[in-house]
Amino acid sequence: MRKPFLCGNWKMNTNRAGAVALAAATAKTAGRIQAVEVGVCPPACYLEAVLAAAKGTALVVGGQNMHTDVGGAFTGEIAGPMLKDLGCTYVILGHSERRHVFGETDEFISKKVHAAFQFGLRPILCVGEKLEERQARETEAVVRRHVTRGFAGLSKEQAGQVVIAYEPVWAIGTGLTATPQQAQEVHAFIRAMLALLYDAALAQQVRIQYGGSVKPDNTRDLLAQPDIDGALVGGASLKADGFATIIAEGAKGKGL
Ligand code: PEP
Repeated sequence: MRKPFLCGNWKMNTNRAGAVALAAATAKTAGRIQAVEVGVCPPACYLEAVLAAAKGTALVVGGQNMHTDVGGAFTGEIAGPMLKDLGCTYVILGHSERRHVFGETDEFISKKVHAAFQFGLRPILCVGEKLEERQARETEAVVRRHVTRGFAGLSKEQAGQVVIAYEPVWAIGTGLTATPQQAQEVHAFIRAMLALLYDAALAQQVRIQYGGSVKPDNTRDLLAQPDIDGALVGGASLKADGFATIIAEGAKGKGL
């Protein structure tokens, strides 16, 4: 069985004291509910403090983004070896805010996926359609493109280490959530694609998170779906109690 993975994406929020308190509280929850993997992706400037709070606990930590290069003249960027050096396990790549606010292309994201593996980090690869794309019935075409390009050139072993986050852009930070059925449809489509790109065993191995206005009261129904293996949680991961409830509800959704 795929171990469910619930991960908070704090984006550009909180401060040092808030980050440490939130990490400590979330680490306690991770220790209590070990049937699911629990992670947080804080702002880069708080990674060290959060990693210190997570040390020796079940909480895993990731970066929110990274550059393709090992280092050099890239003002404001962070390199994979820097994330690894701090102790990160994961890195979010291709988040819709990176794609649509900062103009990151599929090609650039693909290079980042390869760089993540080169530097010993596991990518959380975000894919998902915009509202106008869903309305134009282009969801599958967009998701196919994001997955195909995101996995381009990956070995089967690497592919099995990728976590995919299906995040319909129209549901991110809007309070609108995909229904469990809408999300399940796309998750099943992604799994079928992985079977075509690799094989059925690999497709069954890859964890696919849902993201987009996940809240305490919708988590259980989402994770009860057979192809939803966790959640990438933005706003609702910033409150320790609420995120703890999301983690507990996620476990219940999976019957754990
Ligand atoms: C996200 O940014 O990955 C996200 C899913 O945000 P929110 O939960 O706030 O919609």
